[in-house]
Amino acid sequence: MSRTARAVVLEEFGAPLSLRTFEVPAAPAGGMVVACRHGGVCGTDLHLAQGHLPIPVPLVLGHEGLGTVEEFGPGTAARDAAGRELRVGDTVMWASSIACGTCVPCRLHREPTLCENRRTYGVNRPLDGGSELAGAWAEAIVLHEGATVVRIDDAVDPLAAMAFACAGPTVVHALYERRPVRVGEVVVVQGAGPVGLAAAALAQLAGAAKVIVVGGPQGRLDLAAKAGIGDVHIDITGPGGAAAALERVREETGGRGADLVIECAGVPVAVAQGLTLARRGGSYLVIGQYTDAGDTLLNPHQIVYRQLDVVGSWAFTGAHLTEYVQLLPALTARFDLRSLVTSYPLAEHGTALADVAGGATLKAVLSS
Ligand SMILES: [Zn+2]
Ligand SMILES: [Zn+2]
Repeated sequence: MSRTARAVVLEEFGAPLSLRTFEVPAAPAGGMVVACRHGGVCGTDLHLAQGHLPIPVPLVLGHEGLGTVEEFGPGTAARDAAGRELRVGDTVMWASSIACGTCVPCRLHREPTLCENRRTYGVNRPLDGGSELAGAWAEAIVLHEGATVVRIDDAVDPLAAMAFACAGPTVVHALYERRPVRVGEVVVVQGAGPVGLAAAALAQLAGAAKVIVVGGPQGRLDLAAKAGIGDVHIDITGPGGAAAALERVREETGGRGADLVIECAGVPVAVAQGLTLARRGGSYLVIGQYTDAGDTLLNPHQIVYRQLDVVGSWAFTGAHLTEYVQLLPALTARFDLRSLVTSYPLAEHGTALADVAGGATLKAVLSS
């Protein structure tokens, strides 16, 4: 009983993507085949398609996904990453990466997010690497032994779950492990993309007294406000320019600065600005600079004068995805995550990518 699945393939950097059809293989030992329903388009995908990161091609793109378990391979434990029973037909999300478990960061430094041999669906699993259907922009994905798979509660809208598919676990890693939000803190979030809004929403859930989102453009901030994310929204692209916007942020923090500033903007200049928004003795958590966008000029005196804890956070592991999924009932009860998402048919991948690049949508997903 063979079946085929269509998938979006990055054939070569900078060229249009293609939609190809592949045979769906039998589920591998210890793994499973999942019928993809939604594959998220992430800012990183735009960089991948342009060749800004050294990845092997051709490959099926999509490192964020949600789908339905179709078939277990021989010997696969029918349990999800939280230990719950898993059956064919269950709705699941899966972690993009599998850490090797044997490199020095994995084994000695206890930091699997920093694994030197991460194998990532939709990023570094090329068509000729032994498994063609290895990305989420497809009608099926083959997950291998060691993949983190977690069941989604039936009550959670799958499209709402996709709003922060990659951003959510990224922020969970940063806020659970690198610098937690404490009850009653004033938090500034720089950036109003998915990572910024995930950071703002999680800070609110964690008990922040006030969450100030500084980003843009205004339409994006309005969308966030409507979804219940952030208490104050300041447009840094407005007519007054960045200086006026930053002054307003300072006013909103009582002139002292925030207890915690979370950088989710991804542009290097944001770091120089963010250092000046934290109070003396506060913290600066840098998440957004995932892609190397180059050098920037900053005043290091700000770090000493303000006596800042400056903390970086890189990517996430399967544990963080599992924790994000466990937060989804609370997140979706408080915030309208579904309103942040635009769904496109798989064949309209070109439009989806263009809309993400042009800022026409906050979060695009390819649906099959
Ligand atoms: Zn991503
Ligand atoms: Zn490793």
